Amino acid sequence: MPLVEVEHLSKSYSRHSGLRAEHALVVDDVSFDIHRGETLGLVGESGSGKSTIARMVLGLIESTSGSVTFDGQRVNGAPQSRLRAMRRRVQPVFQDPFAALNPRMRVAEIIAEPLVIHGASPRKELRPRCVELLRAVGLDESVLARYPHEFSGGQRQRINIARALALPPELLVLDEPVSALDVSVGAQIVNLLRDLQREFQLTYLFISHSMPLVRYLSTNIAVLRRGRLVEFGTRDAICDAPQQDYTKALIQATPELRMA
Ligand code: ADP
Ligand code: MG
Repeated sequence: MPLVEVEHLSKSYSRHSGLRAEHALVVDDVSFDIHRGETLGLVGESGSGKSTIARMVLGLIESTSGSVTFDGQRVNGAPQSRLRAMRRRVQPVFQDPFAALNPRMRVAEIIAEPLVIHGASPRKELRPRCVELLRAVGLDESVLARYPHEFSGGQRQRINIARALALPPELLVLDEPVSALDVSVGAQIVNLLRDLQREFQLTYLFISHSMPLVRYLSTNIAVLRRGRLVEFGTRDAICDAPQQDYTKALIQATPELRMA
């Protein structure tokens, strides 16, 4: 059974112009599966509906129709109690590493917060657990007492990832996690994500408008255009033999990535 099953998922928003209400279909009949330990790369230009899909998979917004299933359980339309249980197992990492971190909290509190909320760790184990998580993302205990503004974008994203790993999760929904970072810093974070996936046996929904990044991490790739999946296949099939002009254009739009 796939860990994540998305079936005929759609989302529309109504826009009011004068007296008329128009319905904009921003996600249109999207289906895909993600198996355990794999990465699905979801790629498409800005405005194609990637973040809307991410938010429905996370259970943050309701779908208009269709379904999202996580480990056999419906996410959309689920009662709060089930969503809460699921939130331990599915964690987001968003694009803007600064917006995601509470500026008034120290790193130790930021990383420990999910453990405290879910009662997942005894008080005296919080600090060693935080240190362990920081090490996993390439930081150390010297940062525990510091505040988010003291860090660079790349370091902040490492802190976000450490927090996302705390409970620990099975699925990470990574919505353009390196798009706000310099290319070289982004490459380091993507390398880190690859190592963490192996170390913690994680499943990823990795969202990006950059084909080289998606190619580097993905098992399968889904290509989204104006809310519709126009192409889906293995990483090599999509990158080496794209069928759609749109996919070819996405591949040509970004230069080859040099990974260390
Ligand atoms: P992407 O992440 O691929 O850039 P989004 O999922 O953020 O795309 O947005 C897809 C489309 O849905 C865009 O046209 C956007 O303007 C629209 N959209 C997103 N959220 C809302 C909302 N809350 N209300 C109305 N339209 C929205
Ligand atoms: Mg987006």
